[in-house]
Amino acid sequence: MSLFRKINNEKGNVLAMTAMAMVFLIGCAAISLDVGLLYIERARIVNAIDSAVLAGVQHLPERPEQALQTAASYAQMNDLQVDEFQFQLRDTNFSITGQVEREVPLHFARIFNQELGLVKARASARVASTSAVNGIVPFGVSEGNYQFGDVLTLKRGAGTFIFPGWYGCLALGGTGADIYEKNIKFGYNKRISIGDFIPIETGNMSGPTATGIKYRIDQCQHAPRCTINSFVDGCSRILIVPIVRLSESRTETVEVVNFAAFLASNYIGNGNENAVEGAFVRYVVPGEIDDSISGYGLYSSYLYE
Ligand SMILES: [Zn+2]
Repeated sequence: MSLFRKINNEKGNVLAMTAMAMVFLIGCAAISLDVGLLYIERARIVNAIDSAVLAGVQHLPERPEQALQTAASYAQMNDLQVDEFQFQLRDTNFSITGQVEREVPLHFARIFNQELGLVKARASARVASTSAVNGIVPFGVSEGNYQFGDVLTLKRGAGTFIFPGWYGCLALGGTGADIYEKNIKFGYNKRISIGDFIPIETGNMSGPTATGIKYRIDQCQHAPRCTINSFVDGCSRILIVPIVRLSESRTETVEVVNFAAFLASNYIGNGNENAVEGAFVRYVVPGEIDDSISGYGLYSSYLYE
């Protein structure tokens, strides 16, 4: 073989190899573009299904039909199509699972006869009894066997002590009328957990109680007016209250044993003769949960898959 022919042959080999490498590289680029597309599409449906089950779970375990409807309408608001998703209730209506499947048109993979890619997502959210929560109001409700809808006295009027001098008020984050009133209006801004001991606030606190509760009740401008059977999520009249245990031997503090929600229904009396009443309701709030406690109908929700 002459030197000239040898060089020519090598040129041919290089060309063939370059062509093969190009096909390979274009193939890789095509696949990575389509993979990127599928990745983006999957992230979209994951977010949509997560927010749908979190919206739906707010109605569990009490209103399963509403939970399913809410999840479906959130899914559609987040651009999921009706034929792409489905929701089921589980754990005797304590959890909701959503699944979504979407066919995504591909571009480059068509070269390999692959026109559609399938992306899937699944999410579940559940409610369990709240074990720690922010935003409680400074009223301690004693343990008891209450029924939903019962109207309870959250803060007593004059002459109806629980402990000597104690009308049911709590000192959250300090004592005094200003702190107490602020805690009624806005809820205590730190987290309180089951097992915490809260100092009691002695005295009737009639002025700040009246101002605080009136503020909460007046803030509810919902029409029709919120009732125990139908109230707006986050309504200012919803009071998160600690259920407390009293001890004869420890009269300066009360022990938090649970949490409950009440719909502030009334403020009674003037001057020293005032009391706060609320109707016992089930409610879902952001907070920590504990599966081992049987609660008072205050739940928190979380995503678990
Ligand atoms: Zn309201």
